[in-house]
Amino acid sequence: MTTKNFVFWLVFLAAVAVFARSAWRLRQYLRFARPENRFDQVGARLRQMLTVGLLQKKILRDPSAGIIHVSIFWGFLVLLAAAVEAVLEGLHPALHLNWLGPLYSLSTILTDLFCAFIIVATIAALWRRYVQRVRRLQLEGDRIEAAIILVTIFAIVTSLLLLNTARVRLGTDYSWAIRPIASLLAPILPLDHTAFEVFWWMHIVLILAFTNYLPYSKHLHVLTSLPNVFFSPIEFPRQIPTVDFSAEDAATFGVRDIEDFSWKTLLDGYTCTHCGRCTSVCPANQTGKVLDPRQIIIAINRRTMEKGPLLLKLRDWADNALREDLRNAARQLLRGKRAEEMTELERTVFETVFSEEERAVWNRRLVGDYIAPEALWACTTCGACMQECPVNIEHVPAIVGMRQALVMMEASFTEESALLPNVYSNLETNAVPWGGMAHADRAAWAEGIGIKTAAEDSTMEVLFWVGCAGSYDERAKSIARAFATLMQHAGVEFRILGAEECCTGDPARRTGNEYLADTLTQQNIETLARYSVRTIVTICPHCYNTLKNDYPRFGGNYHVMHHTQFLQHLIEQGRLRIDQAELDRVTVAYHDSCYLGRYNNEYDAPRALLENVPGLEVLDVERSRDRGFCCGAGGGRMFMEEHVGEKVNHNRTRELLATGATTIAANCPFCMTMLTDGVKAADQADRVRVLDVSELLAEAITRRSNGSASPAEQ
Ligand code: SF4
Ligand code: SF4
Repeated sequence: MTTKNFVFWLVFLAAVAVFARSAWRLRQYLRFARPENRFDQVGARLRQMLTVGLLQKKILRDPSAGIIHVSIFWGFLVLLAAAVEAVLEGLHPALHLNWLGPLYSLSTILTDLFCAFIIVATIAALWRRYVQRVRRLQLEGDRIEAAIILVTIFAIVTSLLLLNTARVRLGTDYSWAIRPIASLLAPILPLDHTAFEVFWWMHIVLILAFTNYLPYSKHLHVLTSLPNVFFSPIEFPRQIPTVDFSAEDAATFGVRDIEDFSWKTLLDGYTCTHCGRCTSVCPANQTGKVLDPRQIIIAINRRTMEKGPLLLKLRDWADNALREDLRNAARQLLRGKRAEEMTELERTVFETVFSEEERAVWNRRLVGDYIAPEALWACTTCGACMQECPVNIEHVPAIVGMRQALVMMEASFTEESALLPNVYSNLETNAVPWGGMAHADRAAWAEGIGIKTAAEDSTMEVLFWVGCAGSYDERAKSIARAFATLMQHAGVEFRILGAEECCTGDPARRTGNEYLADTLTQQNIETLARYSVRTIVTICPHCYNTLKNDYPRFGGNYHVMHHTQFLQHLIEQGRLRIDQAELDRVTVAYHDSCYLGRYNNEYDAPRALLENVPGLEVLDVERSRDRGFCCGAGGGRMFMEEHVGEKVNHNRTRELLATGATTIAANCPFCMTMLTDGVKAADQADRVRVLDVSELLAEAITRRSNGSASPAEQ
């Protein structure tokens, strides 16, 4: 062993020890969060890791940035072999990878090529960030760190290319090595043994330093991205965090601090790359609200890094405390107790364990000191952030989890969300979010058009879940009638629940009142069980999503269809004949609702209905399908004020109007309200109609078949 090897052993062991300690601490922080089983469906998770993680499927949705990132990511995978070899050479002069033979040749060729790719990619990344100043990459506090990281990557790769060039020039390379780029450079670069040693040490020290810098930087994602993608939901993340109201020792409902998150949310925080893709598509952010989904995840991570060490210190103290009462008091504190909630003994422990400065950090509030409550209430839960995030971070469950604590623990609302207590009270008394509505009037919309309730006749092919908007909102009642007319036209035996139907709980659940949402859910499940309902069709994507995806958790399992899916099904069965339809030439801009599209991946059924109506032309809308832009009503925003920035519905309607269409088609009563208001605000109500897809179809079919006016026109 040479002196070089001896020195390297010392450097290497120190680097490994420091890294192991950092990794252990990060792992411990996760253990303070709520447990959650994410170890199921291993095969599907591995596939997801392959497509989203290794093949970078989501990164490539943005081709220019995607290619840069993919070059760096795949390049680093290839360069792992070179790093292993450098470490082996450092440990002992006789250690190397040449014995791999042809595989070594392949690895050296790829290493050489990827060195060149990464050098170009890092220059391009620096250009985009500091010269081109791509908006989503301009994050306060990130400029210096991003530069350090990019320059370090550049230096690691350049030093590798140069040390390999020196090997070729000096004739000391391994027998199986093939280095196309180094061979080109060798004749022109005067590199000697000293240069080789300088670049070798530079390369290996930078790698070890970079690896130890990762746990404290945004580039921690280099280590956590693949696990994070592995543990992320296999399908689009639809579930809102559950709350166990039966747990007698529950300290909190919802999320007040990092201990209340699932460990996966903290891992999300470790994994955020700060790329800003989420923020760039967020309707709230893009219309000037304080909400920035990237900052939400960064704030969760910042809180984890600040409070994690305190939790570790407290746990160690508890483990070593000699008196049982002190141990128990410390363990109570570990559940995230705030100063004002501590018993006298707990406060004594708190003051013994922590310095004044540490106590101040402990007492900070996640919502308030790190995240503005206004940001949480601005979220429409549209899911665009989660759709775009290249590492499958789940923003909406984190946001709703924090809303849950604001609502259920603190009854704390902002100016914009101040109306929610009234909404909850309406839901409690009349099972409808709007005030002044009598529960008994729920079926008033259906009077006189031959619709039976399940109580009158429980024999049914399908239950029509009308929803609160379809039952009470004047405009949405027309949608309910249009759809009912189409079903009657097709001879469908359907029933409604009438006064037995309650709100599904969606507005309560997504604004954080899980307790009320649970109550409504149980009530509806009991009603549906009474009539042995199996198949449900609804005109509301929020009801659709809730019945389909939330209710199974409570034991309510049904075949749920959105009305556009059901109409398509009737057409396929030949029960509804679209060739009977005809409209004078109508141009349509179709708006994808978030809860039908992004949450349930249904983009085609409504389009198929529209595209098959003779005389109707569907125009392209720039932000559509999984890149659709929210109308602004989801996540309970329908029932809140909107004072800050541009109104989301105005922004969306402007884009739809820009197509020049004479009709805007929607598939959701909430979108209907928002877009209708948007058209009025743009002073275009005389020129442009906003209709539900079913209304357009009913208009076309009824005109052709009996010459009567459509339900929408009645
Ligand atoms: S769900 Fe929509 S509104 Fe909420 S943070 Fe994500 S992109 Fe923004
Ligand atoms: S949450 Fe995802 S999309 Fe948003 S900045 Fe972080 S990595 Fe990028």
